[in-house]
Amino acid sequence: MLTTFFREEHEIFRKTLRDWVAKELAPYVNEWEKAELFPREVFKKAGEMGFLGASYPEDVGGSGGDWWYTAAWGEELVRSGCAGVNMALAVQSTMATPIINELGTREQKDEFLVPALKGDKIAALGVSEPGCGSDVASVRTTAKKDGSDYIINGAKCWITNGTRADFITLAVRTGAEGFGGLSLVLFPTDTKGFKVTRKIHKAGNHASDTAELSFEDCRIPQRYLLGEENQGFYYIMMNFQGERLIAAVQAVAGSQWALDNTIRYTSERSAFGRPILKFQVWRHQFAELATEIEAARWLTYRAVDLFVRKQDAVKEITMSKLFAGELLNRVMDRCLQAHGGFGYSDEFPISRAWRDARLITIGGGTSEIMKEILSKRLGWG
Ligand SMILES: Cc1cc2nc3c(=O)[nH]c(=O)nc-3n(C[C@H](O)[C@H](O)[C@H](O)COP(=O)(O)OP(=O)(O)OC[C@H]3O[C@@H](n4cnc5c(N)ncnc54)[C@H](O)[C@@H]3O)c2cc1C
Repeated sequence: MLTTFFREEHEIFRKTLRDWVAKELAPYVNEWEKAELFPREVFKKAGEMGFLGASYPEDVGGSGGDWWYTAAWGEELVRSGCAGVNMALAVQSTMATPIINELGTREQKDEFLVPALKGDKIAALGVSEPGCGSDVASVRTTAKKDGSDYIINGAKCWITNGTRADFITLAVRTGAEGFGGLSLVLFPTDTKGFKVTRKIHKAGNHASDTAELSFEDCRIPQRYLLGEENQGFYYIMMNFQGERLIAAVQAVAGSQWALDNTIRYTSERSAFGRPILKFQVWRHQFAELATEIEAARWLTYRAVDLFVRKQDAVKEITMSKLFAGELLNRVMDRCLQAHGGFGYSDEFPISRAWRDARLITIGGGTSEIMKEILSKRLGWG
C-alpha cells in the first residue's frame, strides 16, 4: 500500500514478504496449530530473508532500514492467518531484541543480537511473573552480585518462545523494592538452575509456545547486564513502545484481513434469495467497521511516523494499541457473526482469528493499563 509513509522500496520489500508468507507460512499453519509449535527453521528462514533485521543497523547484521519496514513485516505476517506464529516472530524481531541494539555492548550484540537476527538463536522477553504482569515495578526475580557474577532466583510466566528460547532478555531486581530497583540482563537458557516449569495451554495463539520458567541459583556473568544497573524499569518502558506499536500495526492489518474475507464470504453466501452482503444491516455494519479500521490505521501510522523520527510517541502509541486492539475484537466478533455457523467451525479462518484476537487487549499491557498511561500523559491521572 503506497502511502505518504511507505515508499517504493518498502513496497518491494512487502511484495517479497507477501510471497514468503504465502509459500512458507500459510500452507502449514493448521499443522502448527495442532502441534502447538512450529519448526525452529522458520526463525532461520525469516533471518536468511532479512526480515528479522530489516530495521536494524548493518553492523549487527540488519539491512539498515527504517521502522516502516517493520510495519510492513507486521502487516504482511497477518496473511498467514495464524497469530501464534506471527507473535513468535514479532517477539524475535521487535520485542526481545531492540533493547539490545539500543543498550548492548559490542560483545553483547555479537553474542545475542546478531545470531537472533539471523534466526540462529531464539529470543524471548521475560518481564511478567506468576505474581505480577501489569504492575511491572513489582518484579520479584532477584539478581544478587557474587564476585563477578549475578545469582538469579525467581520465576517468570507467560513467556512467548519460552519453551525453546536460547536466551531471555530478562527483568530482574538488583536493588530496592519498587521501580527503581530493576535491571535488565541477558540470560542464556543453558545456564545451570534454569528450568521450563511448564508449557501453558491457551485459548488461542496455539502455534506459539508460552512458558512458565524458574531460576534457581542461576549464575551469569555481570557483563550480561544491559545498560546501567537499576535503570531497568525505564528500559522496559522504552522497549514496550516498539512492542505496543507492532501490536497496533498487526491489529489494524488483522481487522482489515478479517473484513475483506468476510465481505468475500457474505457476497457468495445467500439467504432468503440474496447474498448476505445485500442485506442493508450488514452493509452498514461493514461500512462502520471499514471507517473505524481506516481511523485506526491512520492513528497507528501517525505513531509509527513519530517513532521513526525518534520523537516522543508514547501518547500516540498507547492510543493506537488501545484503539486498534479493542477494534480488532469488535471486528472479529462481527465478522464471525456474519459467517453464521461456519464462523464457529474450524473450516473457516475466522474462528481461529476471533480466538487469537482476544490476546491483543491483554498482552504487552492491557487496555486498562493503556488508559492509565493515557490519563497520566494527558494530565489528569
Ligand atoms: C499469550 C501470552 C503471551 C505473553 N507473552 C509475554 C512475554 O513474552 N513476555 C512477558 O514478559 N509477558 C508476556 N505476557 C504477559 C502479559 O504481558 C500480561 O499477561 C499482561 O501484562 C497482564 O498482566 P497479568 O496477566 O498479570 O494481569 P494482571 O496484572 O493480574 O491484571 C488482571 C486484570 O486487572 C487489570 N488491572 C491491573 N492493574 C490495573 C489498574 N491499575 N487499573 C485497572 N485495571 C487494572 C488488568 O487490566 C487485567 O484486566 C504474555 C501473556 C499472554 C497471555
